[in-house]
This record gives sequence, C-alpha cells and structure tokens, in this order.
Amino acid sequence: MRIPRLLRRLRNDFQLSIITLMGLFGVIGISPYAVYRLATGNFLVGVADIIIVFSTVLAVLYAWRTGDTVKPGIYLAAIFSTAATLIAINLGVNGLFWIYPLILFNFFMVSPGKALIATTLVLTTMVGYGQLHPGRVFESDYQMVSFLVTSMMASTLTYIFAYRTRSQRDQLQQLAIQDPLTGARNRRAMNEELRIAASMRRRHGNNYGVLVMDLDHFKRINDSYGHQAGDQVLVDFVELIKRSSREGDRLFRFGGEEFLLLLPNTAKAGLQAAAQHLQQQLAEHLKGPGGMVTMSVGGATLRNAEHWESMLKRADQRLYRAKNAGRNCVIVDDDDVPHNRHELPVS
Ligand code: GH3
Ligand code: MG
Ligand code: MG
Repeated sequence: MRIPRLLRRLRNDFQLSIITLMGLFGVIGISPYAVYRLATGNFLVGVADIIIVFSTVLAVLYAWRTGDTVKPGIYLAAIFSTAATLIAINLGVNGLFWIYPLILFNFFMVSPGKALIATTLVLTTMVGYGQLHPGRVFESDYQMVSFLVTSMMASTLTYIFAYRTRSQRDQLQQLAIQDPLTGARNRRAMNEELRIAASMRRRHGNNYGVLVMDLDHFKRINDSYGHQAGDQVLVDFVELIKRSSREGDRLFRFGGEEFLLLLPNTAKAGLQAAAQHLQQQLAEHLKGPGGMVTMSVGGATLRNAEHWESMLKRADQRLYRAKNAGRNCVIVDDDDVPHNRHELPVS
C-alpha cells in the first residue's frame, strides 16, 4: 500500500529520484571498492569510499523525510567532489576516469553555476597537486593537458545543456501556473495553494482569508466595446489588485472575470478592511472604455480543520449575496450588511 505512494513520489519529483538513484549507485557501486581498498591496505581511499557511501545514504534519507532536495544535493556534490579529488590524487591515472561521471553528477545535483564552480575547483586542485608532485597524478604533461582539455569540454557542454534544461523547465513551470492573458496565477495553482493553506492551518493554526471578486456587468463591456476592450479591463484589473494588495497575497484568475485573492495571516477584520481598500482602489483607478468598472466581493476565512473547498463555497455564497444586494459591494460575514458601496458617477 505504501509502495505505490513511494513510486508516485519518485515519478513526480525528478530531483528526489536522481538523489535516490545516486544513493543506489553509491551503495552498490562504491561499497565493494571500500572493502577492496581497506583489504589491500589503502586506508585513505577506503575511508573516503566509506564516507561517500554513508553520506549518500544520509542525504537520501534526509531528502525523503523532508522533501528538501536542494540541501542534500549541495551536500552530495561537495562530498563526491572532495572524495573524487582525493581518490584521483591517490590513485593517479586509474582515478582520473571517475572525474567524468563526477562532472555529470554535479550538474544533476546542484544548479549549473554551482556545478561549474565545483568542477573548476576539482580540476584546479588536481592540476595544482600534479604540478607540485610530478608523476603522482599524471604520468606526463601531455596526459595532464589532454585530461584538462577533455574534462573542460565535458564540463562546458554539460553546463550549456543543464542551463538550457533548467531555464526551459522554469518557463514551463511558469506557464503551467499562469493565466496567459493577465499574468495572474491560474486555477490549477489556486487549488494547490489553497490546499497548502488548509494544511498550514491544520498544522500550525495560521490564519488565511480569501476574497472572491467578480467584475460587475462585465458582459456589457464586451457587448458594447468588443472583446479586446474587455481583455484590457481584465489586464488593468489584475495589475491594480496586485499593486494594491500585500506582497504575500496571491491573486488567481479562476473564471472568466472572476478572481480570488488569498491573504495569509488575515482574520475577519483584516479581510473586511482589505476588501474595502481594494474596492476603493478600483473606484479611483480602474477605468473601462465606458467609465468606472466595479466589482462585487465575497470573503471568507479558513476555519479550523476546514477543507478549502468549503471555505471557497462560503465565499462564493457571499459573492452571490453581494450581487443580489445590487453589486459593487463587499460581504465577508454571514450576518454582514453589504459594505462600502461606491456610487457610480452620474452621467
Ligand atoms: P455580473 O455582474 O452578474 O457578474 O454580470 P457579468 O456580465 O459580469 O457576468 P456574466 O457571467 O453574465 O458574464 C461574464 C462575461 O465575461 C461573459 C464572458 O463573455 C466574459 N468573459 C469571460 N472571459 C473573458 C475574457 O477572457 N475576455 C473577455 N473580454 N471577456 C471574457
Ligand atoms: Mg461578472
Ligand atoms: Mg462571473
């Protein structure tokens, strides 16, 4: 029963799966070497091998327990780089072959910039040591230059590949959570963040509030001035709300002209104040092609042990009431009277 869950985690988290794979490689591939080196009296390399195996196991366990793959990645890259350098210095030519997989390994474990720094340190140490002790690491200058050129080529190509992959992955992640028209986060991101909020509330008692905002009579803008004019109003609306809310607040577009603002560390009074402030900003700054654009707002705060969908439902019901109360108003509480109606300008 637990196995499918573990497999799902591996499939969804690339970094975790690569750290786990390296853990397996570390234990299966390096343990026999550790035994062999100790048995043949090469204690320095034997101990280095043992340290690699143990730190790999520790890092894998840490990554599985905490879900953090960044720190174990840096830790493993540092340990593997140091150990591979020691081994290469100690074994000479026979140790050099390990540097090539080490280069790939570092690029899998940490960011491309960090991996490049680690690889440069390894190569510099080896060449520096080789120069100070001729014949110990490299058999000839020719061999050293060949090693340096090939390993630098491997590093540069891997850097370019890792850099491209990372920036494409970042772009994809961004696209996957963003609404293309307004740049607000999309519904998929909203579900995920609300789920996290509910779990933070359950575990640590954090307060969260949500405001569901729906533009009033938006269809009229489209009908009178065209779809493009409507689009522009949505873009301006998002920019204004982002500008007028706190840095930690998150704005999501979860329907055509419906938006949700998630406000961390916000209880009922704060939610009411935030909603009124936003509505006032709209009255002052949001101009559509036909003049003022207003919104109706329903708000709710997350209750103890409540599922986020039930909070959303309450906010939605209050939005519905705000619409029925004549629009351009805020309802955050069930016993609320509609608040803060801004008069439409008399034309
Ligand atoms: P109410 O005050 O009751 O909310 O009235 P409304 O006209 O705002 O609401 P209704 O749900 O009747 O219409 C919403 C409109 O929003 C209909 C749809 O064409 C428009 N819409 C949805 N998504 C977009 C979009 O991406 N761009 C534009 N321009 N219009 C959109
Ligand atoms: Mg509407
Ligand atoms: Mg609507």
